Amino acid sequence: MAFTLEEPTEVVMQRIDQYLQENAPRFERDLCDLLRIPSVSADSRCREAIREAAEWLRTHLTALGLAAECIATDGCPIVYAQSPPVDGAPTVLVYGHYDVQPPEPFEQWISPPFEPTVRDGNVYARGATDDKGQMLTHVHSTEAWLKTHGSLPIQLKFLLEGEEEVGSEALHALLDRSAERFACDVIVISDMPQFGPGQPAITYGLRGIAYYELRVQAADSDLHSGTFGGSVPNPIHALATMLAGLMDQSGRITVPCFYDDVVPMTEDERARFAQLPFDQQKFLAQLGLDTTSGEVGYSTLERRWSRPSFDINGIWGGYQGEGSKTVLPAAAGAKFSFRLVPHQDGDKITSGLKQQLAALCPPGIRWELIEMHRSPGVLVPPDSPYVMAAARAIEQGFGCAPVLIREGGSIPIVTALREKLDADPLLLGWGQDDDNMHAPNEKFSLADFHRGIRASAHLWHELGRLRPAA
Ligand SMILES: [Zn+2]
Repeated sequence: MAFTLEEPTEVVMQRIDQYLQENAPRFERDLCDLLRIPSVSADSRCREAIREAAEWLRTHLTALGLAAECIATDGCPIVYAQSPPVDGAPTVLVYGHYDVQPPEPFEQWISPPFEPTVRDGNVYARGATDDKGQMLTHVHSTEAWLKTHGSLPIQLKFLLEGEEEVGSEALHALLDRSAERFACDVIVISDMPQFGPGQPAITYGLRGIAYYELRVQAADSDLHSGTFGGSVPNPIHALATMLAGLMDQSGRITVPCFYDDVVPMTEDERARFAQLPFDQQKFLAQLGLDTTSGEVGYSTLERRWSRPSFDINGIWGGYQGEGSKTVLPAAAGAKFSFRLVPHQDGDKITSGLKQQLAALCPPGIRWELIEMHRSPGVLVPPDSPYVMAAARAIEQGFGCAPVLIREGGSIPIVTALREKLDADPLLLGWGQDDDNMHAPNEKFSLADFHRGIRASAHLWHELGRLRPAA
């Protein structure tokens, strides 16, 4: 039956929901077909499987009526597909990855990693949740629209890469070369967990990072600690003093200007985090700890998600072998990093850091600071129309409203997509924390798979009602 514009929304969505129900078993078969392909990007013996997975997706997207192709790269092919533009409606780019982590150690898998097996409502296979299962929810939702309605309410672009697990080099190069091709208003990514079972989430913020190595040197060579101890500078003492001086007793970072661009948390955000079902005692027990630490005046979730932090990642110097050696070492070093929140300026932090290290450095010590890498934080306004559209769609798909959360880590490809395409990401995770991503017995709940497809189908509808500013 042909669809007419006068048809009320409910009728359209009812027909789509019915299509999803009728086709649910076949969606699971499709997922298993893709999971059977051992597309391990880290393993050069899997090159043929990588090509096979890319071709599987291209064929599948073409069959839906999308213009789809495999873009050749120096590494793994990138699958790209798009639907026609829709006047006035947003263009939505779906990012996903069809490559998977190596399955080893094989002996710890209950069923073989590339023979998808359903147990207790979960499909077990490498890539089940990361990211084949989550990625396919958007493909299946698109199918439902095109097969029942003939067209989409938005323009969709699928950008599916095969190197996410090894650094996305080919995609970075492609974005540098031809970002305009992938121009969009918003980027949809489902490659992360929900907040908890039955509690879907929208992740609207990621922290960034600035990573450094500090090398300190005193005498030209190691000295005898009896002969020279107490009379010449010890670089490990100096290093310890300098590192300890970067944070004060209240957990504040002492680098000048460090907090200049930190946007304070809103009362609304603090209230939302406080309401999340986060069990501090369980959190501590899982880690084998009896107390948390961090910046005074902030809760654990606030410290992890919305405040910058400082961590020493490694430290070396002097004798570390068996027995004792009475050495006064010549050199020492450490690696350390700051987790940054959005708007913090990496250049400003590096220059403030140099200033602070110079002030902290004891006499007689030469030091060198090496900047290793840096990536800014990401923050999408939680009240943006896109986030609100996603929240409505998730409520339709999962039967409950999502919580709005942030994440303490960085996802480099998200930062890159956001910068190169100048569009906000919508991070919509359908997985669970215990899905064993990157570990043996990776799984994905089939109920979440179908809820994700339904949420995605509603997302195209909700986004189609938005009119982005020209
Ligand atoms: Zn992933």
